[in-house]
Amino acid sequence: MTYLFEPLPTFSIAVEGETRRFPVRRIFCVGRNYADHIKEMGFQPEREPPFFFTKPVDALVADGAAVAYPPLTENFHHEAELVVAIGKAGAEIPVEQALDYVYGYAAGNDLTRRDLQFALRDRGRPWDWSKGFDASAVVGTIMPMPGRELPGDTRIRLTVNGEQRQDATLDTMVWNVAEIVSALSASVAVKPGDLVFTGTPAGVGPLVAGDVCTVEIGGLASVTTAVGPRA
Ligand code: MN
Repeated sequence: MTYLFEPLPTFSIAVEGETRRFPVRRIFCVGRNYADHIKEMGFQPEREPPFFFTKPVDALVADGAAVAYPPLTENFHHEAELVVAIGKAGAEIPVEQALDYVYGYAAGNDLTRRDLQFALRDRGRPWDWSKGFDASAVVGTIMPMPGRELPGDTRIRLTVNGEQRQDATLDTMVWNVAEIVSALSASVAVKPGDLVFTGTPAGVGPLVAGDVCTVEIGGLASVTTAVGPRA
């Protein structure tokens, strides 16, 4: 087989204690999944079914990489998130079986063009342009924990230049990992290599050129991103 140009390479993420890498297939993200963040976005928390958006696989950014300040925004935001790595194919998965589809977890940062997101939201338009831009999906090294969940009191924290901006525990999620994987699989067949960002707690805020942003989740490798000037 020959191609007109070089096809998309396989994007992958390092795995703790494993020489083989996790090949990434698709990137799904949950919106509004921590009550305090829902309030800071101007909504009342309700236990509505989780909703999803996506990022392109080539938006992945590994630990330690720098990202350019993106175009079309003056309000570029961090969002600390637990990322679920899916290891098994399935559809219409019951909540009680959903953890069987988990390969492991990573710390992530759902980089967001907040001003653009609000403008799109207010017009009832899709969020894609505010969420799925180049270098918008930061994911750290995956900790393999097949079939398991992290303890509810696990802390998720984000610092910018060493100063804390976000701090919560995973049990404050509106929908837990099993419920999210089950809901996702009701809509699309999940496949090994899929990643699921599970939403961010309160404290989201702006990043500027020169900032160094780190997400830490207990038991997982931290993930650090440096923000550069506009490309
Ligand atoms: Mn998010």
